[in-house]
Amino acid sequence: MSDKAPHPGSAPDRMTSQQAALAMRMVLAARRAGVSDARVLAALETTPRAEFVEPPYLQDAHQDTALPIACGQTISQPSVVALMTAALAPEPTHRVLEIGTGSGYQAAILAPLCRRVYTIERHPALHRLAKARLDRLGLHNVTTLLGDGSRGWPEQAPFDRILLTAAPEDVPRLLAQQLKPGGVMVLPAGQEGSLQTLLRVTNGADGLEYEELGDVRFVPLLEGIARQ
Ligand code: SAH
Repeated sequence: MSDKAPHPGSAPDRMTSQQAALAMRMVLAARRAGVSDARVLAALETTPRAEFVEPPYLQDAHQDTALPIACGQTISQPSVVALMTAALAPEPTHRVLEIGTGSGYQAAILAPLCRRVYTIERHPALHRLAKARLDRLGLHNVTTLLGDGSRGWPEQAPFDRILLTAAPEDVPRLLAQQLKPGGVMVLPAGQEGSLQTLLRVTNGADGLEYEELGDVRFVPLLEGIARQ
């Protein structure tokens, strides 16, 4: 695909052996969590998570844990990022919408796996930081937007895949309407503060089909654009 960006700055031969060993830890954690998709594991291995965490947490960048980022939000646990990416099953021709850019890490994992990633964040500070990181890594097939992702991105719809990394209480209708026929949406759904269910929703010929993939814990999907 002509506009599929390469994944510069991330090739294993540009990593030090220590960085490669740390990256391999995340791959092992994802494998233990049940991810076997080779393309997803390769994206995890070659995407430098240290670029996406805040300086105080640098030494934990390769641990399989969620970490705090600005604006009271979190960068997700690597094995959960891998599980959700594998459940989404992005293909090289796909246009993928992500709601909740946060640090930009999940968008960077999706970038080498599909044609184009559209990602929306409601916090201006996070949006700016993530955009700068993604640009610095040369991930030119990621388009970022400051906005309310609960409305989706009607101007760019329909999408082959939609991934939410913030949890609504129920499947947002507006987002489901922006899926192509046969398209797939993966999201955590449920109430804030309790465990949520990871759902895979397929836009089938007879309507939406739902599958439950397990328990997860995410920050809530909030409406409107934040002040900072
Ligand atoms: N995918 C991120 C995870 C960030 S946590 C990463 O890889 O780092 C979820 C993010 O969703 C937060 O940054 C939060 O601000 C954002 N969010 C919550 N509601 C939103 C909405 N309606 N539109 C866009 N972003 C939203």
